[in-house]
Amino acid sequence: MCVYFVWPTAPQVQVEETYIMVKPDGVQRGLVGEIISRFEKKGFRLKGLKLFQCPKELAEEHYKDLKEKSFFPKLIDYITSGPVVCMAWEGVGVVASARKLIGATNPLQAEPGTIRGDLAVETGRNIVHGSDSPDNGQREIGEFLNY
Ligand code: ADP
Repeated sequence: MCVYFVWPTAPQVQVEETYIMVKPDGVQRGLVGEIISRFEKKGFRLKGLKLFQCPKELAEEHYKDLKEKSFFPKLIDYITSGPVVCMAWEGVGVVASARKLIGATNPLQAEPGTIRGDLAVETGRNIVHGSDSPDNGQREIGEFLNY
């Protein structure tokens, strides 16, 4: 029998982690499995997972850079409106690659083949979050998975 091991990678390869969150609309629409499947098929590894309702204070902290935006109150209402699925994913180049797999913020501008490009139509209901840097990935994993 031939067994292929994807993990661990060669020692010299830098493995990083990112925080991926299926937002309330993604959970309510039954897209959790589809989203997990895309990251698994790409070759990334699920390190942690939690279903929970995001408290308002955590949502406001998470999106604090958007505090001055007119849509901020609606964004907080949306993120706290139902359960989210919080995940830590590990892999080579996973932060940037996950952002590519997710697609542009506005789903109508997201490329076909991306999660948002295939599965969403509204910026305010764009079903999934992915960290924008390795540092933010570490911070967000801590904030959400250890909350
Ligand atoms: P991304 O999630 O692609 O990194 P941003 O960090 O710019 O995008 O925005 C964070 C989230 O805020 C978006 O995913 C989306 O849920 C929400 N958002 C951003 N812009 C708008 C907008 N114009 N109207 C409503 N919601 C928005």
